[in-house]
Amino acid sequence: MTQFLATAWQLITQVRLLDVLDIALLSVLIYQVIKLTRETRAFQLLKGFAVILIISQVSKWVHLDGMAQLMSYIVNSGVVVLVILFQPELRRALERLGAGTFLDSSTLRAISHESDAGYIAAELQHAIQNMAKNRIGALLVLQRTNTLEHIIESGTIVDAQLSRELIENIFVPNTPLHDGAAIIRGGRIVAAGCFLPLTTNTDLSHELGTRHRSALGMSEHTDALVIVVSEETGIISVAEGGRLQRYMDQYSLSELLSSVYRAGEPRVSINALLKRRGGANGRKPK
Ligand code: ATP
Ligand code: MG
Repeated sequence: MTQFLATAWQLITQVRLLDVLDIALLSVLIYQVIKLTRETRAFQLLKGFAVILIISQVSKWVHLDGMAQLMSYIVNSGVVVLVILFQPELRRALERLGAGTFLDSSTLRAISHESDAGYIAAELQHAIQNMAKNRIGALLVLQRTNTLEHIIESGTIVDAQLSRELIENIFVPNTPLHDGAAIIRGGRIVAAGCFLPLTTNTDLSHELGTRHRSALGMSEHTDALVIVVSEETGIISVAEGGRLQRYMDQYSLSELLSSVYRAGEPRVSINALLKRRGGANGRKPK
């Protein structure tokens, strides 16, 4: 025991200031990577890679030589595979690093603290219900913690204070910005006419066209809440975490929107909402 303590003490006294700095920088880097990829598919892949790394190290320590050898092959080629898979993300990250915006947390801000959250939620609700009533197709992405820069880049920057009039105006048929999705961050409409990734889920009803499939795809890739107003039926749907909830009534929509905009409160998921409401909302009205 004393031997162990002596060795531990010896190790501690050998720690240099540079080592502390090294660990601090590594922690910041890992934290940023987790923050950027949280709740995306990239994060699942990173988690898988981390598990392989751990198995590889453990098998080295306990001298499982065959296993360690195999794992080291996977880890070595894994780095190349990760670079190929995340080539677009890495390119964007490097570009942002060059532009000095990599650590700018304001770009990740999901909730507008300074504006009146209740007012914004009400404006959104009115616009959505009005468009549903008038059968105006719409696609709205409410950003949460995941950055949506690459989606925003695919559309036209709006960067305007959110209002029901502006949202309805964006989706007027045959106007330049009505095609695609509008991205909303806090109290601002950031961009419109944005292209969203389509879901690869093949079990969907044939009634659901590309507007709904892109909403679902977006919710599979990020933690954003995506709201769809169907042009054909006026049905309001919400996609979150790879799930599409159709036939949203005004109460569920209102509760969901308020929860997104209520800063500091735990977020309400569609699942939790439906459980609380007895699941009645999700069914097709007779
Ligand atoms: P609706 O019920 O409104 O008809 P839908 O699910 O049947 O919706 P479509 O009829 O195919 O879908 O809707 C086409 C519209 O959806 C396009 O005009 C465009 O505005 C939007 N859209 C389609 N694909 C995408 C995408 N990948 N990203 C963003 N918007 C898209
Ligand atoms: Mg359609």
